[in-house]
Amino acid sequence: ENHSTERNSNEAVQVIVRCRPLSEKEIDTKCTSVVRMYPSRGVIEVENPRARSENEKNKIFTYDAVYDENSTQQNLYDETVRPLVASVLEGYNGCVFAYGQTGTGKTYTMEGCDREEIGIIPRAFEQIWAHIDRKTEDLLRAKSTKNHELREVNGQGVVVTNLHSQTCQSSKDMLRAMKTGNNNRTTGMTNMNEHSSRSHAIFQIVIEMAEEHSKSIKVGKLNLVDLAGSERQSKTGATGDRLREATKINKALSSLGNVIYALAENSAHIPYRDSKLTRLLQDSLGGNSKTIMIANIGPASMNYEETIITLRYAYRAK
Ligand code: ADP
Ligand code: MG
Repeated sequence: ENHSTERNSNEAVQVIVRCRPLSEKEIDTKCTSVVRMYPSRGVIEVENPRARSENEKNKIFTYDAVYDENSTQQNLYDETVRPLVASVLEGYNGCVFAYGQTGTGKTYTMEGCDREEIGIIPRAFEQIWAHIDRKTEDLLRAKSTKNHELREVNGQGVVVTNLHSQTCQSSKDMLRAMKTGNNNRTTGMTNMNEHSSRSHAIFQIVIEMAEEHSKSIKVGKLNLVDLAGSERQSKTGATGDRLREATKINKALSSLGNVIYALAENSAHIPYRDSKLTRLLQDSLGGNSKTIMIANIGPASMNYEETIITLRYAYRAK
């Protein structure tokens, strides 16, 4: 069993699941937890609260790793993300995705909150700056009403037009850039949380490194992606433009799932062109790149159906 874990850690696609603790509100409303995790074996067991027979009661899933409610930001980072960022610092590309329904901990996992509980993005900044002291650029969305389109640019792959990119000199610069980008995420929506659950936030860091003993430059790209909430449209009660937007989001998420599945299966055809999200990230998905998909779930019985949908999505990507 140890062998299979070791082998998995070298694979290009890693799928992990993280379950947040029950929230205070869930505890107050007497919600119970239906999720049991066995981190040493990468196993999750979910109990169907509405099962009518013994054999539809428990569903069991296995992943490259699972992180339960007691897992720390530090552990998750050190065990799964640190090796990926290390390979970006050697000139490879990498992607980290947080997937899951709204409220399951995607933003907590990617950004975190206070000092001890900082998430993957600020930890990646620290790792990068501990390693290099050279020119670094990041790409973030400018506050503009211009249209953003995807274009193929020679030598750069697919880029977004009208984006603002910024050169950073420190991990603090990068944090500031992340905050600006997040503020600019609220376009036309009054409720920040509502908006952020309906958009993907892609933080892309491009690291250019002069190679020792040669004149060439190594370039590594790291994409840190807080995906839009994966909840079903029926649950959001959206209509009109909102419904169209939700349909697009669901299409992008399923297309991402298809790309990751095809990569994990070593498929001859990888369907990058099916969504803007996968086109944009094409050169960081596949080839020599590494991908980590973090599926976030909540433990409450009330979310059983969504949790199973997320676990199936993640299982397929494995
Ligand atoms: P999402 O981005 O998926 O909508 P959030 O990251 O905003 O979800 O998390 C929802 C709430 O749950 C937040 O209050 C967050 O602080 C809390 N939370 C999420 N994951 C954890 C965790 N692993 N430990 C403690 N609190 C968490
Ligand atoms: Mg969020």
